[in-house]
Amino acid sequence: MRKPIVAGNWKLHGTRSSAASLVLDIAKGVDNLGHVEISVCPPFVHLADVEKLINSTPLWLGAQNVSEHESGAFTGEISAAMLSEFGCKYVIIGHSERRTLFSENNKTVCAKIQTVHACGMTPILCVGETLSDRESNKTESVILDQLNAVIASSPAKALETLVVAYEPVWAIGTGKTASPEQAQEVHQLIRERMGQFSRNIAEHLRVLYGGSVKASNAAELFAMPDIDGGLIGGASLKSEDFIAICKAAEAVGLERTKN
Ligand code: PEP
Repeated sequence: MRKPIVAGNWKLHGTRSSAASLVLDIAKGVDNLGHVEISVCPPFVHLADVEKLINSTPLWLGAQNVSEHESGAFTGEISAAMLSEFGCKYVIIGHSERRTLFSENNKTVCAKIQTVHACGMTPILCVGETLSDRESNKTESVILDQLNAVIASSPAKALETLVVAYEPVWAIGTGKTASPEQAQEVHQLIRERMGQFSRNIAEHLRVLYGGSVKASNAAELFAMPDIDGGLIGGASLKSEDFIAICKAAEAVGLERTKN
């Protein structure tokens, strides 16, 4: 049984006080949900505040990025060990904004996965195709290229805890969402590819969908058999919307416990 995950990626938004009120509002709204794992991923500088505020709530803490280096002369970087010390459970790795705006490639993504795993946290590996990839029928090869790099470079133990987020680049922050069928097709591909490595890992692998998930479309996306929750950008900044999305995942999680 795969328990759904909903992770909120706050990106470069919020002040100390808005981050605090957002997390408190979310915590209140999801207090009674037990069939979904919910995490918030604030900017680094808000991690300490948010860590304290989520104590005794069902929320988990995540980070949006991490250095591939353990320590040393890397000005401006934050290591996995540092994130772990602040109570992070999840770390988003290889988000398309990191790949396109900050030149991250499969090599850096794989190194980050290693360091996050070594520090006992769970990487959320983002994969996704651009619009031109999709229009030129390259979706499958782009996704497999990103996933294969991680499978080839990671020990099985790291793959056992990995979470994958399928985020079509054309759907991120654009208001355009993949249809449930389009998303399911890629999620199934990801699970099948992992299944060639290990059936057991594939069966337990949580594959999240990300890309303009809203309160109004979450339920139909999460209802697909290979979709195990979502990575949420814009809608994670509005507590009401994020709570509604968490409730959609809760309903799926509850249903899965019955099967
Ligand atoms: C994201 O940034 O991971 C994301 C999915 O953003 P949005 O929900 O705003 O499309």
